[in-house]
Amino acid sequence: MRIAVVGASGRMGKALIAAILDTDGATLSGAIEREGAAALGQDAGSLVGQPSMGIALTDDPLPVFAASDAVLDFTAPEATLHYAELAAQARIVHVIGTTGMSEDDDQKLNAAARHAAIIKSGNMSLGVNLLAVLVKQAAKALSADFDIEVLEMHHKAKVDAPSGTALLLGESAADGRGLNLQEDGVFTRHGITGPRPEGAIGFATMRGGSVVGDHSVLFAGPAERITLSHHAEDRSLFARGAVKAALWGYGKKPGRYTMQDVLGLAD
Ligand code: NAP
Repeated sequence: MRIAVVGASGRMGKALIAAILDTDGATLSGAIEREGAAALGQDAGSLVGQPSMGIALTDDPLPVFAASDAVLDFTAPEATLHYAELAAQARIVHVIGTTGMSEDDDQKLNAAARHAAIIKSGNMSLGVNLLAVLVKQAAKALSADFDIEVLEMHHKAKVDAPSGTALLLGESAADGRGLNLQEDGVFTRHGITGPRPEGAIGFATMRGGSVVGDHSVLFAGPAERITLSHHAEDRSLFARGAVKAALWGYGKKPGRYTMQDVLGLAD
């Protein structure tokens, strides 16, 4: 399967190139960066410490998409919307790991998904997607007097908060409890906040160092506390998941899919 990478010189972009080179049945069909990026013209192989492979980073996605079956996209919301239009035109699988997308952005992705398969997840790892299933089960099994809090820590360069994964876990908890995360989520606390609202799902965000991604969901009851956690040790984890998603998506009907579909964890 011919797979292209956008945002190719980013932290995840490099991990994605390395994962494609490491996967049987996957070939790198192109590496794209934005206009003016310092890495343009550099060879994709040497960018990830491998022998040169004759694929130079380009800022022209159209010919690359036309010669690809899928594109892996861990960039930024504005870029992902642009690439979604191009992937829909080329009818290729679009695997999206970009976080921080708004409701409005999501509607635009729905329009693109009428023409091509889109697989989007705030976290592409098996562990976090399994954790999401467990969080939903726990939220459903525990009575409402177990308060739910989602705690996350990431490296200091991360630009959005809470993380896409924290939101994914919050959604799972809300699903299990029959709540609505938009209405019941408490995303920041500062000053005299008053007591914790009944049925709230709270978030706490930490940033620092080089942490790849730590997430915990706490269920705090009257006299006991349950914590479900995941610790990502390496970005290759997400990259391998994204390549797996692309291979899974090949030949699938246009539409929206999640990592839980890919991993066979969906209800
Ligand atoms: P990064 O190192 O900053 O890389 C982002 C890449 O996207 C860079 O190459 C950047 O180019 C490019 N880009 C940004 N804005 C663009 C635009 N408007 N047009 C074209 N290209 C653009 O960030 P990262 O750590 O790799 O993370 C990227 C995204 O993936 C974030 O949203 C992050 O939260 C998400 N993520 C998701 C998962 C998951 O499993 N779903 C895991 C890890 C990270 P410049 O350098 O030129 O700006």
